[in-house]
Amino acid sequence: MPELPEVQTIVDELNSQIIGKSITSIIENRNGTIISNNKEFKFGKLNKINRRGKYIILKTSHSNIVVHLRMTGKLIYEENLAESSSHSRAEILFLDKTKLIFDDVRTFGKIWILPNAEELSGIKNLGAEPLEKKFDKDYLKEKIQNRKVPIKSLMLEQNIIAGLGNIYVCEILFRAKIHPESFGKNLPETEIENIVRQTKIVLSEAIKHNGTTISDYRRVDGKTGEFQNFLKVYQKDFCECGNKISKIKIAGRSTYFCDECQKLFK
Ligand SMILES: [Zn+2]
Repeated sequence: MPELPEVQTIVDELNSQIIGKSITSIIENRNGTIISNNKEFKFGKLNKINRRGKYIILKTSHSNIVVHLRMTGKLIYEENLAESSSHSRAEILFLDKTKLIFDDVRTFGKIWILPNAEELSGIKNLGAEPLEKKFDKDYLKEKIQNRKVPIKSLMLEQNIIAGLGNIYVCEILFRAKIHPESFGKNLPETEIENIVRQTKIVLSEAIKHNGTTISDYRRVDGKTGEFQNFLKVYQKDFCECGNKISKIKIAGRSTYFCDECQKLFK
């Protein structure tokens, strides 16, 4: 599933390629892909594309188009209007005869059209953006200090940290040398600070390398990301220390860690 660095890469690429284009229409190729209370929405010019958590927000002169890629969603910019993809669920058509295809094999992805993106409850309830100043030791401490829940699960809660998913949480906890089953309430302040620091480092590095392609994630031009070449524990067999990487389930998600390098706080 695309996480913050993948979504940010897509947003950056869309900002350099489709800003200023006028939208003529949005076509739904599969029922249920587009959610909108008003079928008469006007779009106009595409002014800005933002990210909030894993949501992509296309701001036009008259409304907001919000995209969540979920498991397998992709946004593909296509200069030839006649081209399409076999899993095209919706298409945003531009006046200059180019288009943006929403391709989604598993069909969990969604597009909302609404006057204001913040109306969407999924966006309204998001926690801090991990790359912003607000996400610091004090913020994270306040959110996790009373929680008898593995830190791995807490970091996946979108109302605590917006945009993280399974791959990056595994990598961040490895680099912070913290065992994923450590409860939030047992982490000393220095370790919370350590998680915040590593979160910012790992996400920034991943954005620099255009995200991680394990299976489905593709950039707007169809290319893969490159951060999969820098992963240290996710789907790895051995740690750089020589120890075998452990794989367990936490909250139903495969969790990779090194029990030599990562300390359990209990
Ligand atoms: Zn190790």
